[in-house]
Amino acid sequence: MHPQTLLALAGQQTDDCYNSIATPLYQTATFRFEDVGVTKGFDYTRSGNPTRHAFEKTLAELEGGAGAVALTSGMAAISTVLMLLESGAHVICSHDCYGGTERLFRVLEDQGKLEVSFVDLTHPGNLEGALRPDTRVVWVETPSNPLLRITDLRAVAAITDATDALLVVDNTFLSPLFQQPLALGADFVVYSTTKYINGHSDVVGGAVIARTEELDERIQFTANTHGTIAQPFDCWLALRGLKTLPVRLKQHEANAQAVAEFLGEHPAVKRVFYPGLASHEGHDLAVQQQSGFGGMVSFEVDREAVKGILRGTRVFALAESLGGVESLIEHPATMSHASMSEEQRAAAGITDGIIRLSVGIEHTGDLTADLEQALETAAIAA
Ligand SMILES: *Cc1c(COP(=O)(O)O)cnc(C)c1O
Repeated sequence: MHPQTLLALAGQQTDDCYNSIATPLYQTATFRFEDVGVTKGFDYTRSGNPTRHAFEKTLAELEGGAGAVALTSGMAAISTVLMLLESGAHVICSHDCYGGTERLFRVLEDQGKLEVSFVDLTHPGNLEGALRPDTRVVWVETPSNPLLRITDLRAVAAITDATDALLVVDNTFLSPLFQQPLALGADFVVYSTTKYINGHSDVVGGAVIARTEELDERIQFTANTHGTIAQPFDCWLALRGLKTLPVRLKQHEANAQAVAEFLGEHPAVKRVFYPGLASHEGHDLAVQQQSGFGGMVSFEVDREAVKGILRGTRVFALAESLGGVESLIEHPATMSHASMSEEQRAAAGITDGIIRLSVGIEHTGDLTADLEQALETAAIAA
């Protein structure tokens, strides 16, 4: 089945009582036993819940994984993967990863639980230099945040395959419809389902999808043991959101391409970062390993113009997060990536003049017109 069909039908087989088409919401903490030692498959919601299971099963099928677990947030998904590691393990992470991921790695390092190397993985050769005998995880985000750099997942997997390190890919920016990390060699895929998967800015959630049964068993055990699992209502909303992902992504991408092209021609814009532009450094690689370019666009202006632009948009709302139906604008240096030190941001190329857009599904012309008037207002003010 194609993803569109799989998603339209997802969760339909959950109700054996009344055959409801919509997935029932089992908002229950616990389940009555049929007899001593006999259940209908579920005993307690931390260990398993039919609504959560329907969402997880859909994610695993979409991704081609052995199994999936839904967690309480994207950060909970990342934490749960890291809980698999013995203390003191060495981890290698993309140098321009999500700000919260960078903060978590640093906290765990300060607590003596992990040793972390931040490496520019867009040149896979750098990975060989950073690998150690005790490296247990290589953590990749591609496209990266906020500069949309592309990392060659096949090349990274070819290197990690020969080691004891697991390859983990945060696929939040693309979703399983635009990139399939497991097929490219990853062991785990992690998501903030808060973003494109739920897609309506009304749930914070996360997920981990495992390549093998063995890895799935370990992550399920860890999520149940540490209690990082997602709540039934959140899974119900996220599964409902996920059903329309294919149609949403089409519009996100068409709008992002138009916005990127518009910005590329605007005199006040110094640089545009969007993998769908032929001028983007990672364009050819993105064409090879992705099936879409996504809805995230970043651009650079004079730092003096930044505030005026952020204040000037009317359709793009000034807010963190991404992947919802509505367009958002934000300033990485003071918002999404504020938890990084100045040196870290400089190393990752995140200057104060960079603005990040999550391009929504509105009418294309309304979006470009909004940016045009904001850029003009900012130029007059500056
Ligand atoms: C938002 C985000 C996260 C964190 O997810 P939460 O749901 O906010 O905890 C992790 N990785 C990426 C790439 C993100 O965009």
